[in-house]
Amino acid sequence: MAEHPADLWESDGERVHCLLCPHSCHVADGRRGICGVRRNDGGALVALTYGRVSSIAVDPIEKKPVYHYFPGTTALSVGSVGCTMKCGHCQNWQISRASTEDASLQYVAPSQLVDLAIEQGCRGVAFTYNEPVIWAEYVRDCGNLAHERGLYSVMVTNGFVTEAGLDYLAPAVDVWRVDVKGMTDEAYRTLCRVPSVAPVLAGAERARHVHRMHVEVVTNVVPGINDDEAQLTALARWIATSLGLDTPWHVTRFFPCLEFEDVPATPFPTLRRAREIGLEAGLRFVFLGNAANEDAENTICPACGETVVRRDGFRVSRHDTRAGACPKCGAPLGIVE
Ligand code: SF4
Repeated sequence: MAEHPADLWESDGERVHCLLCPHSCHVADGRRGICGVRRNDGGALVALTYGRVSSIAVDPIEKKPVYHYFPGTTALSVGSVGCTMKCGHCQNWQISRASTEDASLQYVAPSQLVDLAIEQGCRGVAFTYNEPVIWAEYVRDCGNLAHERGLYSVMVTNGFVTEAGLDYLAPAVDVWRVDVKGMTDEAYRTLCRVPSVAPVLAGAERARHVHRMHVEVVTNVVPGINDDEAQLTALARWIATSLGLDTPWHVTRFFPCLEFEDVPATPFPTLRRAREIGLEAGLRFVFLGNAANEDAENTICPACGETVVRRDGFRVSRHDTRAGACPKCGAPLGIVE
């Protein structure tokens, strides 16, 4: 299986106009869009990576990270190649920047993926490792099948998607685990070479309120780019007002890599301050990631202080909630299980 007809495009008379992400590419015959995986073949858009998997693994859902959706379960996690962003600090650049030609890709049909998830005892499937929006047709087919078989479906995404793209994906997706890399267009231009944060924010709000997805936000704090008080405060307040106070915010530590090799790792005081900012904004669950000794991985009931989910790295060593609420005081925690 090499290629698959793409959805969400129209002809502009001469070229093909892709409607999936805000790059809004107009692609000439024989050429590909910015993501590198959608090509105009004789006036029709094709999805070059449909079912073509670069990486597959059984992962704890905590590894995504997703903390408040079926804690302690595993998801069969898959990725392909390509991305809509060019992040200078991408940890998965070997696949996000690979082309369909130079990566070793194995075809996994949607039914095979879901069968394998069930065989491996997973409760869900997760589309991750590279940007899954550009895999929309495959995500939708797999997610729908996963639902039919009683599994959940998670997108680990940069959130750069059009309204039409999100609406297309939404019936097949339960969790929108979205990176919000900053609150200014300048941060997005510097970090990942896209012009605006606006579509990311609009997409997360729509995922939450129109499609009723479970949403968790990750922010990798990069010194000198998105670590200033004003930006972190704006981000925390946006989560609080636009997504809700129960939305988990994962603040993660940056490590030097790729084009940001010379930028130092996030200092621990900066991470702690980011967490404080989140709590000051009223967020009830702010976690620190890539920071093992910071003791900010557990879910603690904000009403009574009970530790209801204890995590050691990606392992859940204690999970004691009742229908998503605190077992001690009964406060709702917004945990889906
Ligand atoms: S999904 Fe790819 S082809 Fe479509 S608009 Fe985005 S970058 Fe362009």
